Amino acid sequence: MSNLDTMPGIDARRLWSTLEASSEIGATPGGGLRRLALSEEDRAMRDLFAFWARESGYEVGIDRLGNMFVQRPGTDPKAPPVLMGSHLDTQAKGGRYDGILGVLAGLEVLRSLDDHGIATVRGIEVVNWSNEEGARFQPPMLCSLVFAGGASVEWALDREDKSGVRFGSALEAIGYAGEEPVGGRELDSYFELHIEQGPVLDETGDDVGIVTSAYVMAGMRIQILGQTSHVGPTPMHHRKNALVGAAYVAVEVNEMGWRYAPEDGKSSVARIDVSPNLPGLLSDEAQLYIDFRHPDPDRLDAMTADVEAAVTESARRSRTEISIAERWGFGGLRFDPGLASLLTRQATALSIRFREMASQAGHDAYHMNNICPTVMIFSPCKDGITHNEAEDVDWDRTTPAVELLFRAVLERAGRADG
Ligand SMILES: [Zn+2]
Repeated sequence: MSNLDTMPGIDARRLWSTLEASSEIGATPGGGLRRLALSEEDRAMRDLFAFWARESGYEVGIDRLGNMFVQRPGTDPKAPPVLMGSHLDTQAKGGRYDGILGVLAGLEVLRSLDDHGIATVRGIEVVNWSNEEGARFQPPMLCSLVFAGGASVEWALDREDKSGVRFGSALEAIGYAGEEPVGGRELDSYFELHIEQGPVLDETGDDVGIVTSAYVMAGMRIQILGQTSHVGPTPMHHRKNALVGAAYVAVEVNEMGWRYAPEDGKSSVARIDVSPNLPGLLSDEAQLYIDFRHPDPDRLDAMTADVEAAVTESARRSRTEISIAERWGFGGLRFDPGLASLLTRQATALSIRFREMASQAGHDAYHMNNICPTVMIFSPCKDGITHNEAEDVDWDRTTPAVELLFRAVLERAGRADG
């Protein structure tokens, strides 16, 4: 039994009702959501979020990339505000809680402060970051990247989706090309509440994950160049089949994941594009997208060397040319120890069962960690299933994380009324 019942906190019913309303916008027959960044569904969700915020009396600021900031002022207008939030966009076949919980929990924190008549010294803001998922525009976490000074606004506006639609044009089309500058202002801190997207909390029965660090992740696009020829007359020793070269790399990368699994490393072969991809023809080109992760940056370097060796060996065996055409990565960071110990202290006071964890998926918090003290809170999700229509949470097991967010943000913002 936790101390939650005896302390003033959030209104779990109200938060749940906002999550249910969100689950109607872009609902898929499989029970999930399809709310791609800057789509009509994204616009509808943004409109609803802004409506809720204004109905509660908050201003909504929108910057040039469509990042939305719901603002509850503090008593000291000069003190940098506390920021919390996440994202309202989803994968093409995504779930109802990934990102969404973090934004709507933020709104609930503001409303709960109003319920209890609590004034804070610092202002508190809730952010909805544009295009976190990267399901439509690459890269993921695009707009927090720019906010944190990692890329320019113009570069982001020029990103194109698969059909060649510019980010900037799509943003104007849904009416969310705001006028505020992107970033460049001082923040006290950033909190992001997110479902774990893994099975640990669900299996251990802990209420909350206090996220102190993030796995380092490496992604690569591997290009395989071969030669088209007729599958009939071409002798085996003449073949340069790009598909087969890609397959050798794919198997090697997967085997690598098994080798590093005992130390919690993992690898994924996520996508293959082959051309011409026709029966009766050997392929002249393939693109393979892989990703691998490890808690220890040094071991990730060892995995990188293994992939490079696999590329050389696969090229030899398939008689194709294989190269690493593109590399990207994120993570390998530590969140703010001060905020982590604030969470630990508050969780203990609330009798919330918590564990320290490392994040394995990408989050906007990674970019924010570069510009202000940042921390993440994880809540359990059923069987760790995510980026999937079956993504689900147990409401009773979600409330402790939201209560913790409420206490932590309040402490950081400082009560103005003692
Ligand atoms: Zn997310």
